[in-house]
Amino acid sequence: MEKKYDIIAIGMGPGAIFMAYEMIKLNKNKKVLLIEQGKRVEERTCPIEKTGVCVKCKPFCNITSGFSGAGAFSDGKLSLYNKEDEDFYIGGNLHKYIGVEETKKLIDYTDSVYLKFGADTKLEGTLYKEEVKRIKEKARKEGLTLIDIPIRHLGTEKAHELYKKLEDYLEENEVELKFNTIVEDLIIEDNKCIGVKVRKASDKNAPLESIYGDNIVVAVGRKGANWLVNMCEKHDIETEAGVVDIGVRYELSDEVMKDINKYMYEGKFIGRPGPFKDKVRTFCQNPSGFVSSEVYDNNLSLVNGHSYKDKKSTNTNLAILVSHHFNYPFSKPIEYGRNIAKNLNELGNGNIVVQRLGDIYRGKRTWEWELETNPVKPTLKSAVAGDITFALGYRTMTDILQFIREMDKVVEGFANPENLLYAPEIKFYSNQVVIDQNFETSIKGLYSIGDGGGMTRGLMMASASGVKMARILDEKDK
Ligand SMILES: Cc1cc2nc3c(=O)[nH]c(=O)nc-3n(C[C@H](O)[C@H](O)[C@H](O)COP(=O)(O)OP(=O)(O)OC[C@H]3O[C@@H](n4cnc5c(N)ncnc54)[C@H](O)[C@@H]3O)c2cc1C
Repeated sequence: MEKKYDIIAIGMGPGAIFMAYEMIKLNKNKKVLLIEQGKRVEERTCPIEKTGVCVKCKPFCNITSGFSGAGAFSDGKLSLYNKEDEDFYIGGNLHKYIGVEETKKLIDYTDSVYLKFGADTKLEGTLYKEEVKRIKEKARKEGLTLIDIPIRHLGTEKAHELYKKLEDYLEENEVELKFNTIVEDLIIEDNKCIGVKVRKASDKNAPLESIYGDNIVVAVGRKGANWLVNMCEKHDIETEAGVVDIGVRYELSDEVMKDINKYMYEGKFIGRPGPFKDKVRTFCQNPSGFVSSEVYDNNLSLVNGHSYKDKKSTNTNLAILVSHHFNYPFSKPIEYGRNIAKNLNELGNGNIVVQRLGDIYRGKRTWEWELETNPVKPTLKSAVAGDITFALGYRTMTDILQFIREMDKVVEGFANPENLLYAPEIKFYSNQVVIDQNFETSIKGLYSIGDGGGMTRGLMMASASGVKMARILDEKDK
């Protein structure tokens, strides 16, 4: 054995970063290594701004890989919580492992770290209590729940700066950061994880190197969800059937969304429209924002969205996602989502497909020239006009259309025919990795945090899960 670390984290998303940050605070003597297949945050750029089309960067998409993970190009909306709430409704399930009160304390602490590294002190969604109450009541009458929680908005460009400061801080404090390195496999002996096998990411034929550690923390995010499924199958790591969120990115004018944008910045609505009663929710709302695309394994293009602090469009975009569970005889949510994405990508000739809502109602595709005169102009220029109903299943499509109708009664204009649906927007989570309250998997010394293993679904909770991971590992050695 050549090298040995106290802690090795796979991935450098917010989960792993905050674990390393907290470890510096708790115990500077620990030898910590973070391994990332992508690049340093300052080297991450998306060429689409110049090329106008997604060029599918090799070996990895810069949007989803690299220091700060999916967080770097994310809009950086940190979801906090309401003091009086007795549960968490968004962001993930950290509280199910450590309790609601501890999760609140962890979020306060994590938020203070974000502030220390330059996050905006302004909190969105705290000023207009009466107005929000009114919208909440209107939503309730339509069978929709509005979750209103304070949000700290970093903005895409500011998130870059903030994570660069964190990158410097970790290196100054001797956390080892290994970039352009893919973890291919876990080294497991006698049901204990003792290390990882890595290779240079930019060279498929590079030899595998073994790196050993006492504690291996899987923090691979949604980007690594597929890899994690393979690891679980190969090494018999216990999992339970997970969920896949499938839907569209919805783009409409700021004018329609002006109240929600002003009073809340992001309105998180949840419904269970008939006849299926699946959970349908809005997610990641970007006032005056831009629709974006990102590339996952096997060149799958998925749609997303973000907004900048300074650069503005006149459109708001948000995700409308339907949660699908499978159990018997099929229980492969990731496979299901990948097949939908693959079909949609084929329909778009490798690109994201965009369609007007009115065209779906009229039972026709959208044509390029129709978008030119459409009142809502697409902000994702590389999207190809077409027909998403060819590929999104009947159930998903019905859920989304019914949800839009219900939302229209709360936000007038939400169902305007000129509004745009981009697809596929899919949130892959691994089959839920079974972990105990110390985040340890069924393999000793192997831990799972953040989005990848299914514990969290957003920046704040992923970051907080990292802080908690460091505290658990520090305590373990006492
Ligand atoms: C465009 C976009 C906008 C978003 N906006 C928001 C938002 O406004 N608010 C919010 O709360 N959330 C947002 N999110 C989600 C948020 O970014 C994630 O919830 C969060 O980053 C999860 O953190 P994580 O540490 O679990 O994983 P990630 O941030 O996904 O990081 C995982 C890292 O692991 C690396 N990795 C994976 N497998 C391997 C391997 N085998 N070997 C080496 N490295 C590996 C990946 O390259 C990646 O860099 C957004 C996401 C995207 C893509």
